[in-house]
Amino acid sequence: MRGKADSDLVRRQNRHIVLEALRLHGPMPRVELGRITGLSPASITTIANQLIDDKAMRELNEAPDRSDPNRRGRPTVRVELNPDAALAIATKISIDGVDLALVNFAGKIIARKNTLIATYEVQPDAFGKALANIMRDFFDENSLKSGDVAHIGIAAQGVTHSQKGTIAWSPAFRATNIPVVEPVERETGVTCSIANDANMIAEGVMSADRYSYTGTAAVVFMGYGVGMGLVIDGKVYHGATGAAAEFGHMNHIPEGALCRCGRLGCLEAYASDYGILRFAKNLAEQTPPPSHAVPRHIMVDLENAARQGQANAVAAYQNAGRAIGFGLARMIALLNPDRIVLAGPGTRALDLIEPALRAAIDEGVVEELRRQVKIETVPIDTDMIIKGTIDATLRYLDLNIFASGPMRNLAEQKEPQQ
Ligand SMILES: [Zn+2]
Repeated sequence: MRGKADSDLVRRQNRHIVLEALRLHGPMPRVELGRITGLSPASITTIANQLIDDKAMRELNEAPDRSDPNRRGRPTVRVELNPDAALAIATKISIDGVDLALVNFAGKIIARKNTLIATYEVQPDAFGKALANIMRDFFDENSLKSGDVAHIGIAAQGVTHSQKGTIAWSPAFRATNIPVVEPVERETGVTCSIANDANMIAEGVMSADRYSYTGTAAVVFMGYGVGMGLVIDGKVYHGATGAAAEFGHMNHIPEGALCRCGRLGCLEAYASDYGILRFAKNLAEQTPPPSHAVPRHIMVDLENAARQGQANAVAAYQNAGRAIGFGLARMIALLNPDRIVLAGPGTRALDLIEPALRAAIDEGVVEELRRQVKIETVPIDTDMIIKGTIDATLRYLDLNIFASGPMRNLAEQKEPQQ
């Protein structure tokens, strides 16, 4: 028994490595696949044949290159992920509503749909029903049946609970413990999973160099809120319930400014759009945050005022940089990361934030720990959440479906979870 279990595991791992290489590097000849994965030519031949039989991979039908007279004999055939192997849906739930993307197995977006919902006042059950209706309409509009979609991945703003399939708490909702996975699975008959949106940004940022990067990094989202995705030893770390790295709601100043979560002194209350704006307008720290995202043009005006030297605006960005910097100093002391990646629309104001941010890190953690940390920026918009969710959902398919066998295993796959 042991021997069979071991060889099954190796087979799954090798199939997964091959799928991941194709996902990351695109079409390539089998020889190249062997070079990148480190698998032997014999293994590559076996795995490629299996994956082609299972319709997860296909050979490209390319005309041989006749321009090079030195190339003789059989042309090199390239293999690629079969786009038709499966369909998946990536979903983003935020304070602006619900955003859907239908993608094929190769990651190409086939359809997009954006539905505005006033999420803040909606009741939990009503939201589940609304989400199920949005999904059903999306299925109908794209002539999809239950069996056509292999998995639905959802990213939500706030604290998500991956096992319960709920949004435990989110700045997008007044209510708490909102069921998301159950209503979607019931309506569509498709398996569904939920994760935090900042973790999905980390998935998106890290998927680009998954092969080369095996270290520890923090991806910080700055904008309507402040979030973090943690990458530990090359993998996004989700924690016990999927709520790890709730950076924005770590305490910055005890009994300090009022946060959107209702508590006092969270980092987000100083470093999010509403926190920066409240400070710049000289409003009391207890002034309640707005129930919607601050419009972009208001933040752009504030950035410009700060760049022209308007004192309150300058101080507001310094204050934000200090809050993020001290938070990062604690994180550096705990995890000894080698990269910090700043992301999200808030990075537009990085020139205003960064000096105070770096000064706070210098002040907050010993030099031996911070010396090797690189601070990088990815100037990204919120679509990075959808991109990261697509990446994570397709890797879910690679690992849970196609690494073990063809699509027909999907029904069996679901049973043990019940
Ligand atoms: Zn908070």
